[in-house]
Amino acid sequence: MKSASRIVAEILLALRENIRDGITTADVDRMAEELTLKKKAKPAFKGYRGFPASICISVNEEVVHGIPSPKRILKTGDVVGLDFGVIYDGYFGDSAMTVPVGQITPELERLVKITEQCLYKGIEQAVPGNFISDISAAVQRLADANNYGIVREFCGHGIGRALHEDPPVLNYVQHGKGPKIKPGFVLAIEPMINLGTEKVRVLDDGWTVITADGKPSAHFEHTIAVTRDGPVILTQV
Ligand code: MG
Ligand code: MG
Repeated sequence: MKSASRIVAEILLALRENIRDGITTADVDRMAEELTLKKKAKPAFKGYRGFPASICISVNEEVVHGIPSPKRILKTGDVVGLDFGVIYDGYFGDSAMTVPVGQITPELERLVKITEQCLYKGIEQAVPGNFISDISAAVQRLADANNYGIVREFCGHGIGRALHEDPPVLNYVQHGKGPKIKPGFVLAIEPMINLGTEKVRVLDDGWTVITADGKPSAHFEHTIAVTRDGPVILTQV
């Protein structure tokens, strides 16, 4: 899982370097696929429940599951969610980041920064003896303190020989604590945080999730392993 996750991290960093005004999301998808094959891995999302591309690219008010397109040209001021996974040697890695195109507004900068901090607050709680809901509560606390909308319909997950395994890792506290966290758990923690309403809807393409009020959204994700000494971030170079 370390190897799969490292490949994901390396490719996401390479893609981030290439995000600029004028590039299309299809260009980024092609790059993601080429880099993956070069590393002898397979894109995890391509064909997953029929998803047509190697990477999900969600721009501005798009929350997750955006489909790359040659018609979608990135421009200065956009925020671009890159959500990417690979299969390597039978195991999955999954990670996401939101990348600015050139200069973005202070309001957007703050949304991106706080969403990333929400992820790290969640990861800190992934220690043996805690419950999954401790991760959820930590993410929620910071998002709520900033009056952001926490997307309810999608969440983090266990990961291993499948992309999505139990347990679900919600970004807010519902009922119940979820399982007790043990060494050996590998989790994908992934807050999706909206500037405005938490409400989202799915476009007619059947994939792209957008905010109901059209305001921007940010998304960060890491695959982490729980050890006796605490969490280790695997999708990191
Ligand atoms: Mg992901
Ligand atoms: Mg995920």
